[in-house]
Amino acid sequence: MDKAEIQSYLYDKINDYSKRENQNKHLFQYIMYVYPYIYQGKTHWFLTHLIEILAYIDEYVKDYSKITIDKIETIGKNNPEQIFQILGEVLALYNLMNMPGADKSTIELEPKSYKGAKNPEFRMKLNDEWFAIEVKTPDLTPFKEIRHNGIQITSRLKQSEIEILKEKREIVFSKDLKIQYYLENANEKFVAYKQNAMYKDDKTILIIVWDDFINECVSTLVNPHSGLLTKESFYIESNFQNVDAVMVFRHSHHLQHLFYFGELLSYRLGDGPSRNVFDLSEYSITAGVYCKNPFSSKNILYDFLDIAYPISEEEISVNFVAEYQPTDIIDWTIALGISGLSYCSEELRYKIINLFKENREFKLKNSKITADLSVISLKRIIEDASDEEEALKHVKQIIKLSERGGMLNIPRIESDWNLINTINANVKKRFNKFKGQRLDSSCMCNSGQKYYDCCYKKLRYFKFTKYYTP
Ligand SMILES: [Zn+2]
Repeated sequence: MDKAEIQSYLYDKINDYSKRENQNKHLFQYIMYVYPYIYQGKTHWFLTHLIEILAYIDEYVKDYSKITIDKIETIGKNNPEQIFQILGEVLALYNLMNMPGADKSTIELEPKSYKGAKNPEFRMKLNDEWFAIEVKTPDLTPFKEIRHNGIQITSRLKQSEIEILKEKREIVFSKDLKIQYYLENANEKFVAYKQNAMYKDDKTILIIVWDDFINECVSTLVNPHSGLLTKESFYIESNFQNVDAVMVFRHSHHLQHLFYFGELLSYRLGDGPSRNVFDLSEYSITAGVYCKNPFSSKNILYDFLDIAYPISEEEISVNFVAEYQPTDIIDWTIALGISGLSYCSEELRYKIINLFKENREFKLKNSKITADLSVISLKRIIEDASDEEEALKHVKQIIKLSERGGMLNIPRIESDWNLINTINANVKKRFNKFKGQRLDSSCMCNSGQKYYDCCYKKLRYFKFTKYYTP
C-alpha cells in the first residue's frame, strides 16, 4: 500500500467517537480524530511518521502495513504495552533493514519451524548471514513514577548492603527480572525455531526497546558482579545460549511519552519532532548498545556500530557517558550513580555504601523522561588513587559537589507534570472553543464539510480524559 492507502486503511480500522461504545476505546483515537479537529486539519506528527515507515517497509515486505494495522486495531486502550510492543517491532525492523549489508528482499515475518511452534518476530539476511530477531518493548510508564523516589539499586547488592540503605532511604529496585524474562522467553522461542533444519544455523538477536534509562539494561546484562551475560550472573540457572546477542535501544520514551497521559499529550517539542521518531539514525547521540552473549558459540561479526555501541563485561569503557555505565546504585536525590563496586575491597565497598545511607534532600526536579545523571566510576578512581583511603576521599568530594548541584550540568527543565498540565489545559480550551462553532459552518478540521456532518458527529462521544492517573 502507498501512504494514502495506509492512511485510509487505518481510518477504516480505528473507530471515531460517533458511537458511545467507541468512547475511550483506542490509544490512537485522539491523534486520529481530535487532533486534526483542534489543529485545523493538521495531521499529527506521529501518524505521519508511522505511515511513512509502514509504506517504506511495505515496498519490501508484502502486506506488512495491513498485518500491522490489523494487530493495532485489536488492542484496547487498557493494554498500552501491547501497542508499544507492536510499535517496537516496527522500529526494530525498519532500523535493521536500513543497516549497511541488510538484504531487504529476504525478510520473513513470524518464521515458524512447524505449525503452532513459538517463533521470533522476523528473519532476514544481514551481510550474507541469516538472522532471527525477537523484539521486546516494555511499557515502563508505571515504573517511571517510582524510579526516582530515592536510591535505585541497579545491580545485585548483598542483602547486608541493602539493609544499610533501607534503614533510612526509600529503595527502588531495577527491572532486571523483566530483562531476565525477556532473555528466557527469547531463548525458548529460538530453541523452537531452530527445530527447523533450514533455520538451525541462523544467528539470533534479542532486541529490547527500552526507554532513555539504558544504564538499567547495561547493568542487568554486563555489570561485572551480577550481569546476566557474565560469569557472575544473578541467574546462573541459564546462560541463554540460544540468544547470540542482545541489542538495546533507548527509544521507547519517545513513543510512550506521546501516549503517556492517554489522549492529551502531544510532545514536549511543541509541534512534534521534525525527525522521524522511528528512525534511530536520526538520534545518533542516544545510540543503543549491543552485547554479544559470551555463552553462545556463535560469533557475530556483523558491525552493528551504526546504531549501537558494543558493550561487554570487559569492554565497558570509562569514557562512556553516564547512561552507558553499568551502575550499581543511583541516588536520585542528587542524580548521582556509582559503578564498579565489584572492583573495591570489602572494606571500601562497605564504606562507600555507607556514604549513601543518610537521607538527602531532593536537589533536582528530575525529568521522568530522560536519563539525566552523573556516574562515579570506582574502577577509574581506584586505578588513579594511590590507595583506598585516597579513593574514598575522592568519592566523598564528588558526592559533596553533587549535593551542591555543582556536578550537574542539567538544564532545569519544567517538570513533566507541569508540562502535561499546561498541554492538557490548552487542548481543553481549544476543544471547548471549537465546540461552540455553528453547526452549518465549515468544519474546523478543514475537511470542507459542514461541521454538523463532520466532527460534530465524529467527536460526539469524545470525553476529555486522562488515561494514566498520577
Ligand atoms: Zn471535521
